[in-house]
Amino acid sequence: MASTEVKKERSQVKIGPKQFPVGGRKIAMIAGPCAVENEDQIFRIAEAVRQAGGVGLRGGAYKPRTSPYSFQGLQEEGLKLLAEARKRTDLAVVTEVISVETVDLVCEYTDVLQIGARNMQHYALLEAVGKADKPVLLKRGLSSTLDEWLLAAEYIINAGNPNVILCERGIRTYEDYVRNTLPLAAVPALQARTHLPVLVDPSHGTGHAYLVPPMCRAAIAAGADGLIVECHNDPEHALSDGAQSITPQALLTLMGKLKRIAEAIGKEA
Ligand code: PEP
Ligand code: MN
Repeated sequence: MASTEVKKERSQVKIGPKQFPVGGRKIAMIAGPCAVENEDQIFRIAEAVRQAGGVGLRGGAYKPRTSPYSFQGLQEEGLKLLAEARKRTDLAVVTEVISVETVDLVCEYTDVLQIGARNMQHYALLEAVGKADKPVLLKRGLSSTLDEWLLAAEYIINAGNPNVILCERGIRTYEDYVRNTLPLAAVPALQARTHLPVLVDPSHGTGHAYLVPPMCRAAIAAGADGLIVECHNDPEHALSDGAQSITPQALLTLMGKLKRIAEAIGKEA
């Protein structure tokens, strides 16, 4: 059902209070911290994202951390802060859900359910979000092929939810100057196979803040429908993923450049 063999026209997935169409002519910029940390942090960043022209606010409340001793997220308290940030800015809230048991709770607060790379093949979770009435942002698994990823999307659609957005976030390779290797050829390759919108996450895709703006520019030039970027007001003290988080000022500068690239390929940013 995700295939261009079944449906030729590109799908648009509408997100948030303004029902912004992801997959349309306008590039979707979703930005925010890796994790919601406190009220001051999330409200500050949300305001910066709105001012930069973003359409969505990302922020993890349930964090699937590699180490059990790392910050695991504020959980329901984090969801409440995200919902309050939505009220103040009208941005669409994007947050991760990591278990079947918390899907209903996360749905009460979020606009978009993120399925993280580590859960791309958690089939019970895919079916659970497939029964939810919120759009799903499905990240590519750390070592998943395009076919495995598209079949994961198929699980969600087959369970009843056609509103799936794919997100390339880099894959694991032998290369270690980056956290992950970001294969931008996945964007046009996916667009040849599926009508679903495709976003790129250069933060997890590279692991380094200085690489994020150039890879955002390249992703838009390659035809991505939008970006999801980690942005923090104080990256050095972030509780997770500070090294790959850009500042609000860098986000603003980036948006200016993306406008010109989008225009060059017949889109808008
Ligand atoms: C995240 O978005 O913060 C995250 C954990 O991403 P991924 O699932 O791509 O690692
Ligand atoms: Mn992160």
